[in-house]
Amino acid sequence: MNDLERMPVVFFGHGSPMNALGGRYTASWQAIGSAWPAPRAVLMISAHWHVPELAITAAAAPRTIHDFYGFPPELYQIQYPAPGAAWLVERVTSLLEPLSVRHAQDWGLDHGAWSVLRHVYPDARIPVLQLSIDRRQPPRFHYDLGRRLAALREEGVLLAGSGDVVHNLRSLRRDGSNEPYDWALRFNDTAKHAIASRQHESLLDWTALGPDAALAIPSEDHWLPLLYVLGAQREDDQVTFFSDAIELGSISMLGVVLDARQHHI
Ligand code: ZN
Repeated sequence: MNDLERMPVVFFGHGSPMNALGGRYTASWQAIGSAWPAPRAVLMISAHWHVPELAITAAAAPRTIHDFYGFPPELYQIQYPAPGAAWLVERVTSLLEPLSVRHAQDWGLDHGAWSVLRHVYPDARIPVLQLSIDRRQPPRFHYDLGRRLAALREEGVLLAGSGDVVHNLRSLRRDGSNEPYDWALRFNDTAKHAIASRQHESLLDWTALGPDAALAIPSEDHWLPLLYVLGAQREDDQVTFFSDAIELGSISMLGVVLDARQHHI
């Protein structure tokens, strides 16, 4: 790609690990990989690396982590052997100074990353790093990190968040109805409206958004990746929602692209 071109930023609603095997979202995820210029690397912020430290994957060959329980055997057989990228480890470390970023040889790619990326970049040749979500930090810290990481957009790096705007496992419908809860639909719309109209402050202070927000975000891990993505938004970026549905009553599959161009996915 042209060095001067700016990469989009993307938020994936990843939903169930079963999406790794295919389904309703595969086509839009594939379209991202095939329609956009191939990035030099992907820097992924996944809901599933929400830990009390700031760390980045530093292994030359990060392992595929199967961090879920009770799913069919074929999910545990999936490998996503995307390489690491020492140059990007160094670049992110220096971008985030004076914060200290641990270089993690012990972590690899969790399913928040690979369940989506295996559809976006099926050949797994593009390097993928994950940056942890430091759970000791307040919302604005994560938003600010996104702002600082936005410099990578001009360096051919795809900055990606993977989570769910509505993520309540306790209220999942297990009767097969798939009917969205009213509060899930309402909060999904609230989030969409705020994203589309750049009202980031309200999303940083989501606990002030009332009872729908409390039900949609019972824990912050699947919400925070969105704040990195929004933090990386530039003045002239347009917003595209490339997927938008509620699964199992209380899981949002909302997907967001921020880019200077409007996308039609
Ligand atoms: Zn998840």
